[in-house]
Amino acid sequence: MNEVDVIVVGAGFAGLAAARALAAAGRSVTVLEARDRVGGRAENGRFSDGQWIEVGGQWIGPGQDRMYQLVDELGLSTFPTFDDGRLLVQLAGKQQRMGSHKGAVPRLNPFALVDLARGLARYNKLAASVDLQQPWRTPGAEELDGQTLRTWVERNLRTPEGRGYFQVYAEAVYSADAGDLSALHTMFYAKSGRDMETLLAVGDGAQQDRVDGGSVRISERMADELGDRVVLSCPVRTIRQAADGVTVITRDGTEHRAARVIVTLPPTLAGRLEYDPVLPSWRDQLTQRLPAGSVIKMHLVYDTPFWRERGLNGQVGSDEGPVKITFDNTPPGYSRGVMLGFMEGNDGRRYARRTPQERRSAFVDCLVRYFGEQARHPVEYLEKDWMAEEFSRGCYGAHFTPGVWTAYGAALTEPVGRIHWAGTECSAVWNGYMEGAVRSGESVAAAVVGALR
Ligand SMILES: Cc1cc2nc3c(=O)[nH]c(=O)nc-3n(C[C@H](O)[C@H](O)[C@H](O)COP(=O)(O)OP(=O)(O)OC[C@H]3O[C@@H](n4cnc5c(N)ncnc54)[C@H](O)[C@@H]3O)c2cc1C
Repeated sequence: MNEVDVIVVGAGFAGLAAARALAAAGRSVTVLEARDRVGGRAENGRFSDGQWIEVGGQWIGPGQDRMYQLVDELGLSTFPTFDDGRLLVQLAGKQQRMGSHKGAVPRLNPFALVDLARGLARYNKLAASVDLQQPWRTPGAEELDGQTLRTWVERNLRTPEGRGYFQVYAEAVYSADAGDLSALHTMFYAKSGRDMETLLAVGDGAQQDRVDGGSVRISERMADELGDRVVLSCPVRTIRQAADGVTVITRDGTEHRAARVIVTLPPTLAGRLEYDPVLPSWRDQLTQRLPAGSVIKMHLVYDTPFWRERGLNGQVGSDEGPVKITFDNTPPGYSRGVMLGFMEGNDGRRYARRTPQERRSAFVDCLVRYFGEQARHPVEYLEKDWMAEEFSRGCYGAHFTPGVWTAYGAALTEPVGRIHWAGTECSAVWNGYMEGAVRSGESVAAAVVGALR
């Protein structure tokens, strides 16, 4: 039996950041990871010629200070997301080109423009009022948490264009339908990453930069430092607590003992572990109510990035799917052109039941609609359905459904005896992002070091 100060369950960004902080504080730690790789929701895929591409989390942007620091500390570098040229917006059947700078709004008829401007102003004001540490203490929390984002939009915006804009926001940022999300949750989340415009933007926004070689390299370098403290391919099944410590049992029956355990799984998966004694009702009821988003991340490769010649940056925001969001995701120095698209929310759910060929062809059809016939003949297709992943079961992150923040919010981070909770969903800052995962892992590690004294 392996006995250490702390066991960390999960070797994503949160788990590795926690383990690194514990090791730096002189504590012994073992990280138990279910997959045969580290990185969790960040992962690289390869095209047939060997070129790497991010199939999971990829972008970092201003305000994500820990991610930029880690890039530096670990000897990595970033490069800017391709953003030269205009982006395409399609709302209520009308397509237009527009500037891609932060806060840019599409050219709309005067009614729609006023409607959208008012809706955004109201939304941003409410989001700015959210208490990030205790969202349930936000003024008007019960009312905001008692409605979905869709209800809020229907009450506060009148035009199809204005409503369509918020629907695109819901899908692009939460990989969910506006009707799935607590309005309070979306406001908390927007503030946690500064504001809604920052979450949507490339320049000066959450999509500004990529990590050379892929973001997963950050987790690989952290794992290299930790060496044999990280154990792969050992899914945890049971956590047993006693007065003198915890026993963590993996699926093959191996037992690991520690004084404390940090669970960094997405909430739904944390709720599926066996706990002995069972968890308090409020913790279990919480994890019953935090579903992961629904997303399929897709790449089409072309001989050249032909959209660039037409002054387009490859970005699309559309209210007609199934692929409503695209980016030029060509890695630096790569001769071919790489188009990234997402099937999110209801589109992701519908297409999860289709074949890869059907998804490919739906993606091609969308690109033909946006960029014309030149998009008809890609040379390669690569996809990743994150809902199908046993150890993620959806992405980008979990979201709070109506009523959950106000009824159960405190249970999200409250330790249960010797069990501590971390992961991007537990972060008050950049919740849902790699930055939030790192911050959560580090702050829980600090709390555990305190508890071990
Ligand atoms: C397609 C996609 C695009 C995204 N885009 C971005 C982006 O551009 N920028 C950004 O910042 N974020 C993005 N994200 C979100 C980002 O990837 C996550 O917020 C972050 O990686 C979460 O880290 P974590 O450590 O909290 O959780 P995870 O990465 O989920 O780590 C949990 C770990 O626990 C492991 N595990 C699960 N079950 C068990 C078990 N029973 N026993 C042991 N181990 C287990 C998992 O394998 C995993 O390694 C994206 C995610 C996806 C999927």
